[in-house]
Amino acid sequence: MARFDGLAHSSRSRVAPCMKWWQITGLVALGLLLVAIAKPIHAPFHPRAKLNACSANLKQIEEAKTAWAKESGITNVTAAPVGTSLFGSGGFIRDTPICPAEGTYRIGTLAEKPRCSVAGHTL
Ligand SMILES: [Zn+2]
Repeated sequence: MARFDGLAHSSRSRVAPCMKWWQITGLVALGLLLVAIAKPIHAPFHPRAKLNACSANLKQIEEAKTAWAKESGITNVTAAPVGTSLFGSGGFIRDTPICPAEGTYRIGTLAEKPRCSVAGHTL
């Protein structure tokens, strides 16, 4: 009886480290897989994220232009506000918008949409 128990025990302990090794390997592989999947989603400077951030900036500039025209009583659509009228402490947007892809903004006239110098960055 005691001999049988000893055999059963030793066979179990022979299997157990093997199972643990595979479990650890499996967890590591799963962890690496999750990191590989999660990385593009959380990368803050992914081209898609830059485009979205730039589009949001252009929308803000467009809204600031409309507010500027309304506040100044300007109805001439060829009028073009300058950056200092729109941005800063006295403007409509406190911080000057900066394209995350290092593009430069062209505010344009009231009839035009603000533009970014980076291709594909549109309102
Ligand atoms: Zn841009």
